[in-house]
Amino acid sequence: MATTAIERRLLIDGGWVETGDWFEVRSPYDGSVVARVAKGGSREARTAVDAAGRAMASPLPAHERAAILDRTARLVEERSEEIARTISSEAGKPMKAARVEVARATSTFTMAAVEARKLAGDVVPMDASAAGTGKVALTLRVPIGVVGAISPFNFPFNLVAHKIAPALAAGCAVVLKPASQTPLSALLLAELETEAGLPAGWLNVVCGSAAEIGDVLVEDERVTLITFTGSAGVGWKLRERAPRKRVNLELGNATPVIVAADADLDDAATRLAANAFSFAGQSCISVQRIYVERSAYDAFLERFLPRVDALVVGDPAEDETDVGPLIAASERDRVLEWIDEATSRGARVLAGGTLDGELLRPTVIVDAPVDAKVSCEEVFGPLCTVTAFDTLDEAVALANGTRFGLQAGVFTSDVKAALGAASGLEFGGVTINEAPTFRADQMPYGGVKDSGNTREGPAYAVREMTEERLVVLQL
Ligand code: NAP
Repeated sequence: MATTAIERRLLIDGGWVETGDWFEVRSPYDGSVVARVAKGGSREARTAVDAAGRAMASPLPAHERAAILDRTARLVEERSEEIARTISSEAGKPMKAARVEVARATSTFTMAAVEARKLAGDVVPMDASAAGTGKVALTLRVPIGVVGAISPFNFPFNLVAHKIAPALAAGCAVVLKPASQTPLSALLLAELETEAGLPAGWLNVVCGSAAEIGDVLVEDERVTLITFTGSAGVGWKLRERAPRKRVNLELGNATPVIVAADADLDDAATRLAANAFSFAGQSCISVQRIYVERSAYDAFLERFLPRVDALVVGDPAEDETDVGPLIAASERDRVLEWIDEATSRGARVLAGGTLDGELLRPTVIVDAPVDAKVSCEEVFGPLCTVTAFDTLDEAVALANGTRFGLQAGVFTSDVKAALGAASGLEFGGVTINEAPTFRADQMPYGGVKDSGNTREGPAYAVREMTEERLVVLQL
C-alpha cells in the first residue's frame, strides 16, 4: 500500500481501535491518498453497540450533557479551519462551502445544548375526566435507547453533528457509521467530543462495510432508533428491514423553484446561480428545476447566465473556487449521460455541459421534457433546468411532478401568491424569496413522499430520540 499522510482508527468504548484491515480515502479532486482508515465490520459494530449499551446504564444528567455539547461547540469554533480543510480534502468541497458547514455545526451543537437543558415532559390534567379524579399524572421524556446513525458524504461534519448532538442531548449513546468517502470529518468530530469530556461508550464511530455495520444496527434490539441521511433507495430499504424500530429518514430531492414575473429578478438570479452549483450541486436541496413565468423568462436568463458563467471552477482547496469535483468520476459520467438523455429528446444546453479538465462545468438546460431524468430525478450534480410557465397553478403542478418532497422555493413580490403556492407545494419546507437550499440548523428540516419521514434540527430530533413515559400518582 502507498505511503499515506495520516492514519485514523475507529472510536469504540473510548479507545482508538485498529482492526487489522484498512481502506484508503482519496481526494475526489486529484485522486491522491488523503488517509487510510481502519476498516470495521460486524465485529466492531457489535462491540460498539455493547459499549453504547453499557454507557447508557449510567445516565449522564442533563446539565453534564449540555456542558459537553457547549464545550464541543467551542472546540469546533476553535478548530474551524482544520475541520474545513478536512471536509474539503475528503469530500472535494470548496473551502468557501466547507467553512460555512463548520460554522453551521457550531450552531447545531449550541442548539442541542439548549434542548438538553429544557428537555421536559408534561403535566396531564387528570381531573378533566371522572376516571382521573383524585390522581396526578405527568410524563417524563426518557432516552429512546442506543441510536444507530448513518451519514452521507456531502455534509460529512454538520450532518454527523445533526445526529450526535441531539442524541446526546436526549441522553442516548450513539453508534455512528459515516460515509466511506468521508470518515475523517466524523472521526475528527469524535476526537473533539472526547476532548469535550464525553465519557467512554457514549459515541462510537465504526467506519467500513456499510452492509455489515448496517445489518448490526438493523438486527441488534438494543439499537432502538436508526437515523439515516442518504439516498432514498438505501434509506427506505433500511426502514423496511427494521419495522419495529424508529427509522428516521432524511433523503434526496429534485429541488424546484418558481420565479414569478413580479419577483426581483436580479436577486433571484443571484441566489439561484449560487445555490444550483455550490459544492457542484451535491446538496440534497441544491436548486435543480427553475420554473419562470413566461413573460419574465428571457429577462431571467439574461441575468442568470452571466452569474453562472462567473462561477470559478477548480481546485476545492483554493479560496476563490465555487465549483469543484463531483464525489467520483463515475458520478460525473452519470450526469453527462443524463445531459445526453435530455438533449437527445430536444433539450438545449445554454451553459456548461462540457468538462473543464476533469470537472463538469455548471450546466444550464432549457426545453427539457417533463419526464427527462434532469426534470424529475435527483441530479446531484452542477446542473439546473429552466422552464417557462403560464400560470402559478401550472408551476406548482410542475414542481410537484417528482417523487421527492424536501424543500421548494418561490420568488414573488405578491404575498398572496407566495402563500398560495406554499400551500400547494408538496414539500417539507418552502422558502419565499430565498433559494430552497437555505437551511438554518434550528429549523425543522425534512421531507415528505420519497424524501423522508422525519424532521431534523435539534429540537425536533430530540423529540424523536426520547420516549414519553407516563407516571400516574394516586393522591
Ligand atoms: P448513500 O449512498 O445512500 O450513503 C449514505 C450512507 O449510507 C453512507 O454512510 C453509506 O455507506 C451508507 N450505506 C450504504 N449502503 C448501506 C446499507 N446497505 N446499509 C446501511 N448503510 C448503508 O448516500 P450518499 O451518496 O452518501 O449521499 C447522497 C444522498 O444523500 C443524496 O440522495 C442526498 O440527497 C441525500 N442527502 C439527504 C439529506 C437530507 O437531510 N435530506 C442531506 C444530505 C444528503 P458507504 O459510504 O460505506 O457506502
